[in-house]
Formats: sequence, C-alpha cells, structure tokens
Amino acid sequence: MTQISALCIYCGASQNVDPRHLEKAGELGRVTAEKSIDLVYGGGHSGMMGAAADGALSAGGRVIGIIPEHLRAREAAHTGVTEMVVVDSMHVRKQMMFERADAFCILPGGLGTLDETFEIITWKQLGLHDKPVILLNLFGFWEPLLEMVQRQIDGGYLHEDPAYLFSLADDIEGVFTAIASAAAAKVKPDSSRL
Ligand code: AMP
Repeated sequence: MTQISALCIYCGASQNVDPRHLEKAGELGRVTAEKSIDLVYGGGHSGMMGAAADGALSAGGRVIGIIPEHLRAREAAHTGVTEMVVVDSMHVRKQMMFERADAFCILPGGLGTLDETFEIITWKQLGLHDKPVILLNLFGFWEPLLEMVQRQIDGGYLHEDPAYLFSLADDIEGVFTAIASAAAAKVKPDSSRL
C-alpha cells in the first residue's frame, strides 16, 4: 500500500453544523494520526477544522496549521497544534497547504471549502499536479456537487475523467483506500508551472 506522509484537509470552519459531521472530522484526524500521517490544514480552532485537528492531536499525531495573519483572530487560530505557520495572504496559505501535503481530503464545508476544492481539482485538470484528491461524501453531503459534475459532463463542459480528478469515499477508512489506489495510478505532473 502506498503510504503518504502528510494529508491536507479542506473543510468548514463553522461550529453550527451537524454533530455527526464533527464527530467524523475528529475520527479522520485520529485515524490519520494512527497511520503516522501528518495533518495539514487551515489552522483554525472551530468547526470541522478544529475537530479534525483535535482528533489527530488526541491520538498523538502531528498537526500543521497554515493561517494568514489577518485571519488569526477571526478564525480563532488553534493554540495547541504541533506547528503553526502564519503567512501573509490566502494565496500563500493555499500554496503552502498544497506544497506540504501528498494528498487532499475534502470534508463538508462552506464557500471557503468549495474554493479550495475547485482549486486543487482544477490544478490537477491543468496537469499542474498529480496528487490524490478525495471527496469524503459524509452522509451524502456532496451529492449536489456530484450531480453538477454529471451535468457538466452531459453538457460537454467537462472532458477530463472525473474519476481521475478526484476519488469518492463514504467513510474514513475509504479515504485511505482511495489515496492508495489514486497514488498507484499516477501520471506525470508539471508542478513547475504552478
Ligand atoms: P468555510 O468552508 O467557508 O467554512 O471555510 C473553510 C476555510 O476556507 C476557512 O479556513 C477559510 O479561511 C478558508 N477560505 C475561505 N475563503 C477562502 C478562499 N477564497 N480561498 C481559500 N480559502 C478560503
């Protein structure tokens, strides 16, 4: 099985969400730590982001938060992570999250999560990287997005095989199975153009 060393997660910062989602975010963090994989994320303390970080920390894992200076107070930066990198801008944050991880997992989230999701998927579509991207479809949360992608295929707007661009997982263990299969099917990236 292909082993990665760092997993980046994209997910919501809002605390006022389905508690089952928060529980699963914590589980993802724990399992990531148990597999000795570092967790890279946006550095916040609340919502799905905080739950995943706390899950990993509770299992003795290494957690790397990357947060822009202007969001430190607004997003309540986590004070207990292994490493907190404070950067100047959202762009640097996203670039660093990309560079510090070998694979990406998308959990339920809001507009910020969608921005990060489409950036990492479209960079892959443009051949800029070939890292595994896993959409964790917790309790069917991402079904409307999958319907939209199907509509784009049907309408002739999307030519790349979506199964190459991202994999689907329904549960936590499925995330790691999907990462292993995606990593095994790698093609040549050209990240020098990022
Ligand atoms: P949300 O999914 O809206 O709760 O946001 C999740 C994370 O995405 C938060 O840490 C936000 O700072 C971040 N975020 C929000 N907007 C953007 C954006 N335009 N680009 C990148 N990250 C963003």
